[in-house]
Amino acid sequence: MDFDIRKNNSTDAEFERSLRPLSFDDFKGQPKVVQNLEVFVKAASLRGDSLDHVLLHGPPGLGKTTLSQIIANELGVGLKITSGPVLDKPGDLAGILTSLEEKDVLFIDEIHRLSPVVEEYLYSAMEDYRIDIVIDKGPGARSIQLNLSPFTLIGATTRSGLLTSPLRARFGINCHLEYYDCSIIESIINRSANLLKVGIDANASHEIARRSRGTPRIANALLRRVRDFAQVKGTGHIDVEIALYSLDALSIDRYGLDEMDHKILLTLIDKFQGGPVGVSTIATAIGEDAGTIEEVYEPFLIKEGFIKRTSRGRVSTLLAYQHFGKQASYSQAD
Ligand code: ADP
Repeated sequence: MDFDIRKNNSTDAEFERSLRPLSFDDFKGQPKVVQNLEVFVKAASLRGDSLDHVLLHGPPGLGKTTLSQIIANELGVGLKITSGPVLDKPGDLAGILTSLEEKDVLFIDEIHRLSPVVEEYLYSAMEDYRIDIVIDKGPGARSIQLNLSPFTLIGATTRSGLLTSPLRARFGINCHLEYYDCSIIESIINRSANLLKVGIDANASHEIARRSRGTPRIANALLRRVRDFAQVKGTGHIDVEIALYSLDALSIDRYGLDEMDHKILLTLIDKFQGGPVGVSTIATAIGEDAGTIEEVYEPFLIKEGFIKRTSRGRVSTLLAYQHFGKQASYSQAD
């Protein structure tokens, strides 16, 4: 079955928007990040200044876009959303920057994927609220400096290690989002079920939460699919039986690992004797992009202790062998 809980399509985007928390009070978990951001937002509001630029980093689906929306709401300013790969030329960025009103928030997702020229163009905008634009063409072409309204840039990245140091240095506020505890994911599921007007038993939301990889986006996506099963195969109410039945039908195991995770781990164990092996070799073996493995699949497998990252490459742990009922053949599988 071709079902990847992490991939998004446009109806998913619509669904996600409907469940997005709109205030800090509604945003669950990440207490340190939220407490700090609340202080900085309040202080900027009291002074009447624009908020300092914010860098949000962490795996996909943990709430980076949501937080930027909340920050704009709490500041009472407008929000423009774009992403690194979309900003092809400095002109694209100039168009957005000049359309911002005073203290507005500009959210750039996947900021590590900005092209070097666009990134460089961003520096003076971030630092002095000023950009150079070229007017006219040919021999008459000249560059003029344009003042921008003070604004807040919120950059989001799943790979903060790929950010250049000049860009990183221009963010005054730097926040790392962590995977959520199961109990917080449970409360996110209950909130979403409430918004969707679906009844759910506590043990059912616990089962869904356990398999959500500590990620609100996955929790909401699973809830959505379980709701389908509950409507078609049950009474519409989500009890633990229908939750387990649906999760099983979606091939999501008790750790929340899906077919792709299984593929990665089994490749590591069966084809490479547990490693160490480089991520690009794993990627070639399973026909997936190395960056996607590193950004999307691997962090959770590492966090849960199925894979270890060593200087010589990835190694599967004893837990990974046990998960598939296999005998570890290597002493490094500890
Ligand atoms: P990211 O930008 O990090 O990929 P998003 O902000 O798009 O993640 O969040 C994905 C979905 O998860 C959103 O629809 C939002 O409703 C939900 N979500 C994320 N974080 C939280 C949270 N802390 N509390 C409740 N819902 C959340």
